[in-house]
Amino acid sequence: METAVICLETKTILNEIEKLRKEMTQTLIDLIRIPAIGPESDGEGELAKAERLIQICKTIGFDKVQSYDAPDERVPSKKRPNIVAFLNGETDKERLWIVTHMDIVPPGDDSLWTAAKPFNPIVKDGKVYGRGSEDNTQPMVSSIFAMKAFKNLGLKPKRTVALCFVADEESGSIYGIQHLIKQGFFRKDDLVIVPDGGNSDGSFIEIAEKSSIWLKIDTIGKQAHASRPGDGLNAHRVGMEFALAMDKMLHQKYADQDALFDPPVSTFEPTKKERNVDAINIVPGEDTTYLDGRILPHYNMGELLRNVTALASDFEKKTGAKIGIEVVNKNIAPKPTDERAKIVLMLKEAIKKTGGKDVKVGGIGGGTCAAYFRRAGIPAVVWATMDEMAHQPNEYAKIDNMVNDAKVFAYLTGQS
Ligand SMILES: [Zn+2]
Repeated sequence: METAVICLETKTILNEIEKLRKEMTQTLIDLIRIPAIGPESDGEGELAKAERLIQICKTIGFDKVQSYDAPDERVPSKKRPNIVAFLNGETDKERLWIVTHMDIVPPGDDSLWTAAKPFNPIVKDGKVYGRGSEDNTQPMVSSIFAMKAFKNLGLKPKRTVALCFVADEESGSIYGIQHLIKQGFFRKDDLVIVPDGGNSDGSFIEIAEKSSIWLKIDTIGKQAHASRPGDGLNAHRVGMEFALAMDKMLHQKYADQDALFDPPVSTFEPTKKERNVDAINIVPGEDTTYLDGRILPHYNMGELLRNVTALASDFEKKTGAKIGIEVVNKNIAPKPTDERAKIVLMLKEAIKKTGGKDVKVGGIGGGTCAAYFRRAGIPAVVWATMDEMAHQPNEYAKIDNMVNDAKVFAYLTGQS
């Protein structure tokens, strides 16, 4: 008898979410229109988006909507907002947290945005195009409307649900989830989902991650006129040669494979490049490039850094240039979440019951908020259904994914 009642209730909730499809799409569009770019990329931060989210949650009728601001002198408002919206459940002992991030990466080259302009979203073939659509607004809207369905039906969550909308995820999370974790309101038996990664059919739950490192490589030579290069020292040439040598060394030395991860290897990619001189006829005296590395957790990060600096010293001796290596960001992979942790089992059931799918668990490149929870000893999972359009031009979110993931969140909210 009881199972039948639960099934009926679940059906009602899932139907309710289906009814909210249009409103969800509109909310996704509205949120994309508010860029939230961090100061590292010359943005003004997340305040405008945060204010909108507070308004949305208050209108829905969450029990408490609170902002936990991290001070940051680099943005006009001097603060990086982190919003937590609580919906009280039958118990508060064990809470369900769904953590999404407000900040987005810059749109990049405007001419590559052929489907829509980054902050002027359009709906086409069941997709919403715009910067931040999939990363991370789609799951953010899913989490909000899962709760709205509960409110609409006058139902109470089994356990208190807290939706977190955090700042600064794209640049290290110091002003974001790390700031929130420091407040001390996460508990060891809380259930944490970070829907900031996943695959296109939602059949993958991330429980482990790689270590990650971002390096800034400054090469200092001597500026000169390009017609008389002998008077200077071309930092651009040395910088390129060093970057390639480092790239090769890292790939050769850190070549192990681990099938738990996808991709199963460590990755090292030269990425950002600072502009140097303003004219073609100037030999650059300075060169700055960056590297993004995602490293299998069994490797020692200290040793890796020593290998990079040793190679830099070699180049300094060989060329006469100065090469500075700065660690912009570094994350040592925490212990993976246990495959039998309650949140893993609950999520597996929720995915199965709402969409009929069996899932597999494993590791990805990492670099989500889940790492900070795992480090604090709180089991966290990363899961969402997405086409992995994050950080790409013509980024889109599939409306079906947004709606179906909301059903999974709603199922979890009502789950015993
Ligand atoms: Zn993201």
